Amino acid sequence: MQAFQFSKAESIEQAIELGAQPGAQYLGGGTNLIDLMKGGIARPQRLIDVTGLPLVAVEPLPQGGLRLGALLRNSDAANNALVRRDYPLLSQALLAGASPQLRNMATVGGNLLQRTRCYYFTDLSFRECNKRAPGSGCAARAGFNRMHAILGASEACVATNPSDMSVALLALEAVVQVRGRRGARAIPMQDFHRLPGTTPQRDTVLRPGELIVSVDLPPPRFTHSCYLKVRDRASYAFALVSAAVALQLVGTEVRDVRIALGGVAHKPWRAQDAEDALRGTTLARERIRSAAQGVTRAAQPLADNAFKVPLAQEVVARAVALAGGVA
Ligand code: SF4
Repeated sequence: MQAFQFSKAESIEQAIELGAQPGAQYLGGGTNLIDLMKGGIARPQRLIDVTGLPLVAVEPLPQGGLRLGALLRNSDAANNALVRRDYPLLSQALLAGASPQLRNMATVGGNLLQRTRCYYFTDLSFRECNKRAPGSGCAARAGFNRMHAILGASEACVATNPSDMSVALLALEAVVQVRGRRGARAIPMQDFHRLPGTTPQRDTVLRPGELIVSVDLPPPRFTHSCYLKVRDRASYAFALVSAAVALQLVGTEVRDVRIALGGVAHKPWRAQDAEDALRGTTLARERIRSAAQGVTRAAQPLADNAFKVPLAQEVVARAVALAGGVA
């Protein structure tokens, strides 16, 4: 691990000043960043410890909805009574991620920023990785790419985003609140993570030095939901494919619906075609199956991950059926 300076921020304003220095990175729970530093993949010159900042609260918003502080632990978010009552989809997704020990350390803000688990990104013995070393190539394209993207990938990178929480937040249309030297801004989840394009080294639209201060959930309007994750073993594994489904049902009529997928792209993937096919209809098994087939219309599978195409369709169909109570 390379030497680095360490500062503990006493206020949000001080954190932002320190975070604007070249080579600075914020340190929250550290469950991903410290591993990457030990492996030589992340090499910050300065670590800004933000764990003492007052960003752990769960607060109702004035117009309805809920604000989750960026430093709220994943386990505390998952088990919060208001989250469990009004946003059970988020609680399910959080509990599907990592292990209890990691959830006790990891924060909401850090979860949004966790980096891909592409084997070639995390193993320095592979020289080619555009995300780690821009311009070096992509070892996964011609290598073993079973865990990689089937949607939205580029020549430069086929990595997937590993977060379960982010998939639920996309379906719930959460908004990420950030602060930086140029002021505060609100970033809808849909826009927060990036597709790789020619610059896969950038996972999000955050500007250098910007600090996530909270995640805002809009007023609850979905009556039924389900987070379904398929992985290689029953716990402590990243998603091969996951789906977050939020339904607004009146009887069996779908007034509104949001569907997001994990494990298939560089960012949580919204399945708008499937939503459009279900909105305004009565939930029925055949209609659900037909809508779910649309989620992979633009898929471009790689040598080892073509199985994700039917799997994504199946996971979405099952998640919608489970959410809606369709036998
Ligand atoms: Fe690197 Fe992305 Fe290629 Fe993986 S898929 S080797 S992260 S460039």
